[in-house]
Amino acid sequence: MNIFHTDRIKSILPQIRSFVAEEIIPLEKDYLHGTFRALEPRLHALRSKVKEKGLWTPHLPESDGGLGLTLTEFGIVSEELGRSPLGHYVFNCQAPDIGNMELLHQFATEAQKHTFLEPLMRGEIRSCFSMTEPEFAGSNPVNMATTAVREGDEYILNGHKWFTSSADGASFLVVMAVTNPEAAPHKRASMLIMPATTEGYTLVRNIKIMGDEGDSYASHAEVRFENCRVPAANLLGNEGAGFALAQHRLGPGRIHHCMRFIGIAERALELMCRYAISRHLAPGKPLASRQSIQMWIAESRAEIDAARYMVLHTADGIDKNGAQAMKESISTIKFFVANMLQHVLDRAIQVHGALGVTDDTVLAYWYRHERAARIYDGPDEVHKTVLARNILKSYGYDIEQ
Ligand SMILES: Cc1cc2nc3c(=O)[nH]c(=O)nc-3n(C[C@H](O)[C@H](O)[C@H](O)COP(=O)(O)OP(=O)(O)OC[C@H]3O[C@@H](n4cnc5c(N)ncnc54)[C@H](O)[C@@H]3O)c2cc1C
Repeated sequence: MNIFHTDRIKSILPQIRSFVAEEIIPLEKDYLHGTFRALEPRLHALRSKVKEKGLWTPHLPESDGGLGLTLTEFGIVSEELGRSPLGHYVFNCQAPDIGNMELLHQFATEAQKHTFLEPLMRGEIRSCFSMTEPEFAGSNPVNMATTAVREGDEYILNGHKWFTSSADGASFLVVMAVTNPEAAPHKRASMLIMPATTEGYTLVRNIKIMGDEGDSYASHAEVRFENCRVPAANLLGNEGAGFALAQHRLGPGRIHHCMRFIGIAERALELMCRYAISRHLAPGKPLASRQSIQMWIAESRAEIDAARYMVLHTADGIDKNGAQAMKESISTIKFFVANMLQHVLDRAIQVHGALGVTDDTVLAYWYRHERAARIYDGPDEVHKTVLARNILKSYGYDIEQ
């Protein structure tokens, strides 16, 4: 019994759970031993089935073909989809597209919506978000060298970015670029929507993550912009509003990520328990008979449950009072849940012994790719500083003084 489960959630969750278990998880083996691109025809067939079931783009309002869920409800769905690395993609609510959909939904002009948002919502194209640069600390993105200089009815874009997730095969990029270097730091940059076919744009490489280069949607690219001409009509929101728009993208985004982390941790715990029962040290002595393993199972259960309540409480607060009111909780969940995930995955791998470090289970994939959970969307230390600053303020001490 979960106090956050509404009637709507109770009616759709069993359908989503069985779809993930019966249709999506069976594809994982081929993904782990092949490429994302090779799997795409089968993933797209599953996408059609999701549409037929009326579960497509669950995060969107009903008027846009979604399920009209609250952030809390979508968080619960996100946990369920997070049980497989392919879950969100099959339902078309995968990062970074989900963040871009929300951004375009709120701030795009009608023409921009028609050209970029509508095909994205229908799942016909993909997109990416390009802000971080190799030469500057991404934790403080007000420092960046990419520029967009206005010339007539175009912007001329020049710069170098990396970790532009899913750029490989994306139809457009939302690019953060300095439009006014003289402005106050948080008003220097703007967001531009740039088609990937723009002359002067190069995808330099997909960056290897712990040895895994990935491909297509499942990749992180280094990219370059050399005199790319972007129509001024592709400016998203106002000039200088880039950081304000980025903030809009981050609040709900952290709920999505954290609930996905919880889905991963649940699956890891499930794998841990099943293996602990089935692997025998001696006749009648499964791994589960050892106290150390029992402790890991109990600790994982407690940590996952604590994380879920923290995140859903935060999502509920955002639904009722907005992201600004929950700023401190958003920072708290981001580092707490990312660390919880790492602990649970590590224990699950340990229980699996040598099997745990192979790609014969999904655990090693997540261990490789989700180490970054403590880095992207703000490293742990940045979020801990936000929390500590707020706590210490209530004791009359400002850490910035
Ligand atoms: C898998 C993955 C996907 C990503 N996807 C995207 C994407 O799609 N688009 C995009 O634009 N970017 C993306 N990023 C980039 C991400 O946003 C940055 O990595 C992140 O903001 C941190 O910036 P940095 O890597 O430059 O680390 P830096 O800012 O150089 O920080 C390095 C380390 O210093 C420490 N540190 C930083 N600030 C502080 C502080 N204030 N106090 C104490 N310690 C601190 C932290 O330990 C941090 O890990 C992605 C990154 C990864 C790993």
